[in-house]
Amino acid sequence: MKKIIVYILVFVLLCFLLPVIFTQKQQKMDVATSTNNENAIQNTEPEKNEEPTQTENRTVKLLHAKTGEIEELPMDEYLYGVVSAEMPANYQEEALKAQAIVARTYTAYKMYKGSKHENADICDDSTCCQAWISKEDRFAKWNEELREENWEKINTAVNDTTGKIITYNGEPINAFFHSNSGGTTETVANVWGGSNYPYLQSVETSGEDGYTQYSSTVTLTKEETLAKIREKYPETVIDWNVENPVSITEYTESGRVKTIQFGNTNISGVEARTIFGLKSAKFNIEIGESVTFNVVGYGHGVGLSQTGADSMAKTGASAEQIINHYYTGVKIENI
Ligand SMILES: [Zn+2]
Repeated sequence: MKKIIVYILVFVLLCFLLPVIFTQKQQKMDVATSTNNENAIQNTEPEKNEEPTQTENRTVKLLHAKTGEIEELPMDEYLYGVVSAEMPANYQEEALKAQAIVARTYTAYKMYKGSKHENADICDDSTCCQAWISKEDRFAKWNEELREENWEKINTAVNDTTGKIITYNGEPINAFFHSNSGGTTETVANVWGGSNYPYLQSVETSGEDGYTQYSSTVTLTKEETLAKIREKYPETVIDWNVENPVSITEYTESGRVKTIQFGNTNISGVEARTIFGLKSAKFNIEIGESVTFNVVGYGHGVGLSQTGADSMAKTGASAEQIINHYYTGVKIENI
């Protein structure tokens, strides 16, 4: 009789302890990375969690960041809203298909490796997870005569790729993407530190200079420049009369600024990007009466470039070829 009581006690304990252990493991695996997530700081090497589930028929629990509401949507219906929020509908069909596969993979990764959100798989804030827009809101922003045609085009891109995700070693990849790489993509470690993913190498694309996202400038007065640096580094002193008051001291292999010196303060190119609101960390500086940052590319530069994808599609590349170009050594699989 005593034995039975002991067995029952052990069983009850296990029932309570196991969920606690698994919940903690899940939290540890919370990978702070995202497609357009500009606030991602650190990436940690993902661990294997559970077998991938079929994405095709999965319901996505979508958190609406502004209202806190959670909406459940079938995977592909959810992806109509992601693709139409993340990529212009006038891009090539193969680029839209590549975006659909990338967005599905990103979502699967969140489901498979663990979401940042407690009761949802993913949210609709592009600075946290990936953007999503409702059909109504999307239609309101499109010209009336193009609405149905655009929506049809995006639905086709999602439907034609249904169930397809990008894998590496049989697992969904952390499918980063950005707007314009400025000709060369960046490795993860140069943006957020941590370890590199083997499938996210620096690659080159031609044709991105044909898009408005390719180049931009930010001009500030010398006083504004110093004030912005001092918000974070109050001890900074810049003598504008010396030969190089501001100088780029190191570049990454992809040509982005790795470190830059403002007077007596040394910061990373990624940090300079945040402080001065630059579209990318690929820039040079001209100092005259004022300070001008000439910027190339748009976004963190990791993974697929959307304008690069469109440019490749224009030269006849398929969605699969585009994906294999931006993600090294991957497979596209139905799982
Ligand atoms: Zn989120």
